[in-house]
Amino acid sequence: MKALVYHGPGRRSWDDVPDPHVINPSDAVVRIDTTTICGTDLHILKGDVAAVTEGRILGHEGVGTIVEVGPAVRNHAVGDRVIISCISSCGVCSYCRSGNPSHCLADEGTSGIGWILGHLIDGTQAELVRIPFADTSLYAVPAGVRDEAAVLLSDILPTGFEMGVQYGQVKPGDTVAVVGAGPVGLAVMATAGLYGAAQVVAIDLDENRIAKARTMGATHGVCSKDADWKEQVLALTDGYGVDVAIEAVGIPATFRMCTDLVRPGGHVANVGVHGRAVELPLQDLWIKNITISMGLVNTDTLGMLLKLVAQNKLPVDAFVTHRFGLDDVMGAYDTFGDAATSKALKVVISR
Ligand code: NAD
Ligand code: ZN
Repeated sequence: MKALVYHGPGRRSWDDVPDPHVINPSDAVVRIDTTTICGTDLHILKGDVAAVTEGRILGHEGVGTIVEVGPAVRNHAVGDRVIISCISSCGVCSYCRSGNPSHCLADEGTSGIGWILGHLIDGTQAELVRIPFADTSLYAVPAGVRDEAAVLLSDILPTGFEMGVQYGQVKPGDTVAVVGAGPVGLAVMATAGLYGAAQVVAIDLDENRIAKARTMGATHGVCSKDADWKEQVLALTDGYGVDVAIEAVGIPATFRMCTDLVRPGGHVANVGVHGRAVELPLQDLWIKNITISMGLVNTDTLGMLLKLVAQNKLPVDAFVTHRFGLDDVMGAYDTFGDAATSKALKVVISR
């Protein structure tokens, strides 16, 4: 088969590789119908994720059709159309059973990390992919849900909702500021209303992304190039700060923006993946009684979000900006990697 292979920092190619097959009884092999590229794949290509070794097939998002199942698979069968969760979880280890499948202990040779696809084992940017723990890592796609919507459930919609809205403990009436209006920040804004946020403020450097956010759940937009960006946000509150500030970029400056914006007693939810140390000014923050959260998505809300997508309750169509054939995944990377010019959000890659 063909697959997008990582050959070390800055090097990727669309190669001929051996077809995957069932290895363990709980595995399934899925033919990829639709996949996409994540900001995390760009981090890997920069060499930021040392655990990814040369020769690894990238990708942790996808929708496809099952072509082979191991003898222990009970919930899915050959021919089923499925969403692949970016988290592979066994469903029975102590972490899976206590609500943290992102730290599944059973994953193949990895001590306690559920994100293995396109990271520690071969991923979804390929014609075929082997999925461990198929029963608990694949979700049947309801009739009527298109691949382009379903593929958003592999990672970004659960990430925005779980790490942003749930960890940030958004409550009815809250003012929520989201720093970063990329696909993940937009997923936060698109789901903040589920818990009753009254105002959702999109903050970004890019006016184009702020405009997009206003169509996807943001009630207000603030450009952080403006010298008075903080005053603009505080003017939407009683002056003491936002109830919840959500970081969806992954750099020290934007984490700092969140601790500056949050009100006493509020929440800062960090969603971004950080590649370097971030200063935490406890000398100023301790007296604010704030809660700071962070984490790797669990995708335990995937099934719930899928029901909302099936009922057209989430603005999924607005995420997809570009479409490619699977044999042009190299071109898809070029477009996604140059989002500043291409204005790409999610690039959908289909067979
Ligand atoms: P992205 O790069 O597409 O979007 C980031 C946005 O932040 C862009 O719109 C950019 O203009 C904006 N931005 C950059 N600097 C800014 C600044 N100083 N002020 C305001 N806005 C600024 O990224 P994405 O795909 O949306 O992902 C966001 C983060 O979420 C990444 O760090 C990604 O790795 C992470 N992520 C985390 C998880 C998890 O499980 N925690 C899962 C998936 C992705
Ligand atoms: Zn991802």
